[in-house]
Amino acid sequence: MILKETVDGSIEVYHPWGEWTDSKPLALFTESIVTMLTRPSAHQAFVDLVSLMGQTFPISAPAMYVNLNELGTSIYSVLDPKDGGTRDTNRMLEKMENKGNYSYFKVKIGGHPPVLKERVDMAIIQKTRASVLLSINSGTHEYIFRDWVKILAPAMTKLIDNEQLKNMAFSDSLTGLFNHRAFEQMLAVECDRVFRYGDTFSLIMLDIDWFKDVNDRYGHQAGDRVLRAVADKIKESVRKSDMVFRYGGEEFMVIMPHTGLSNALKLAERIRRNIERMSIIPGHKLTLSQGLTQYKVGLSPSDLVRKADIALYEAKNKGKNRIEVE
Ligand code: GH3
Ligand code: MG
Ligand code: MG
Repeated sequence: MILKETVDGSIEVYHPWGEWTDSKPLALFTESIVTMLTRPSAHQAFVDLVSLMGQTFPISAPAMYVNLNELGTSIYSVLDPKDGGTRDTNRMLEKMENKGNYSYFKVKIGGHPPVLKERVDMAIIQKTRASVLLSINSGTHEYIFRDWVKILAPAMTKLIDNEQLKNMAFSDSLTGLFNHRAFEQMLAVECDRVFRYGDTFSLIMLDIDWFKDVNDRYGHQAGDRVLRAVADKIKESVRKSDMVFRYGGEEFMVIMPHTGLSNALKLAERIRRNIERMSIIPGHKLTLSQGLTQYKVGLSPSDLVRKADIALYEAKNKGKNRIEVE
């Protein structure tokens, strides 16, 4: 049996005994493996995989549903949300019994805009810790994608395992924020980046005021609850592009890419106000102090931390629940 299909004017011929008269499917398989092995993150690998599929078989209009539990759900699709992408997403979410939030990544492939037709879903990974679903237009190219799933699922399992391990090593188990180790690495990366591109960023060091009192008066468990609530509130107060870390005990850091002092100050003030307004332990007023600094050429990561620390110390000395700049 030979299956034929016109894709962008060319003809694909597939022999079920495993021979290809067209090199496209083989190129898709090998390049997919290379993509999974070489990209710095699972996110980048998914973007590139869907792009590769979409460029090789535009008629298939591929989309991937990726759920990595604590890392959330992402949709990678060549479809524009308003041209069927959202409809396809909702269908996949329903199928996976997923009612949560998701991030949508539109993958560009060039050429004519892809069109949503009758869809076929293929489960690539279905485990408690992760699930990945491939959705494509139905057609004879289905056979190529079915083989793709069979051949490449183990490589994708490995990619996801690595991502989850990396996430564990870089996250703080109490708050779910990035941890100290992640901070050191990401600060170094950010310093390199802004130096190379002549950009800037700001750094805030935050410390809960009178936190020892919380533990002493309400117990260590209440203290932990406060730490989690404060972490959530800081995260909620900043922008999606800002990175929030638990630096140590009751100390946090925020890296704000592309942000100068005046905007950083506005964000710091927003955090300060949001924390002050919370009522985590009824009747107990909780505040935090912040030290703010901006990257300047010539400053090392540890110089920046030192400056933020000096500013924080000043905020504490001047009466707490305030922001100082160094
Ligand atoms: P200041 O206003 O000057 O910041 O005073 P403070 O009491 O907040 O600061 P201090 O450094 O004296 O105390 C910090 C406390 O944080 C001491 C420690 O018991 C507590 N702590 C550190 N890590 C944790 C944690 O993971 N859970 C709980 N519950 N408490 C913690
Ligand atoms: Mg402290
Ligand atoms: Mg403190």
